[in-house]
Amino acid sequence: MKRYLSLFILLLFCVPVYSQAGLEVVSTVIPPRSLPAQAVGGFGQVDVLVTIDAEGNVVSADPFKGHPLLKNISRAAAVKWKFGKDANSAAPRTAHIIFNFLNSESVQIIEKSENKTEAVASANFLTPFWVEITTTNIVPELLLLPREKGKVTALMCLLHQEEMMIDIVKTSIYSDPGSELENYEEAEKDEFPNANTRFRDGIEPGTKQAEIHYCKTCRLKREQWIHEHKVDN
Ligand SMILES: [Zn+2]
Repeated sequence: MKRYLSLFILLLFCVPVYSQAGLEVVSTVIPPRSLPAQAVGGFGQVDVLVTIDAEGNVVSADPFKGHPLLKNISRAAAVKWKFGKDANSAAPRTAHIIFNFLNSESVQIIEKSENKTEAVASANFLTPFWVEITTTNIVPELLLLPREKGKVTALMCLLHQEEMMIDIVKTSIYSDPGSELENYEEAEKDEFPNANTRFRDGIEPGTKQAEIHYCKTCRLKREQWIHEHKVDN
């Protein structure tokens, strides 16, 4: 019984901190657990102290406790929160927001996207000021080039002064086939920098293909180079 009593008292102490009487939360922005934080296993609670003006806008946000890789995204989200107006308030009001980043992610594979793996948040509000955050990573099977008004930006191969074409290639954490040959990387840099027969720029597992720019002449030069440097046993 004593144990329950102390728990009850503890809860009583907690509630006023998180309910923050008189402050109305009008809208919120919830950050997902960022990919860099996921990579190093950073998770847990970030405490942010925000200062609010009479209009209900956040004028400053200070993440005073939490994992370093989660503080910046927490600050960026907290400054976008909106609170109820208080025209009578002489002094700026403050609120204590808690983002609790859970240590688990789910993966959702989508067909294609112009964005690389994106982390999105879903929120569970324990109180209006205390949010439990579950992160889902959305991974495209086909990574498209970014488009502007539906069109991919044209790019030039500066080495051959020709406009590049667009292709869809396999993604690979390994280099192009042929790269096992001696001096391949130097030749690639000097003679065929835009052959782009593979996509290997920080891709997430699950991304199978990517749209890329490539230069026709670079690809021809690459084939010639591999042909000339292949050692037949
Ligand atoms: Zn070229």
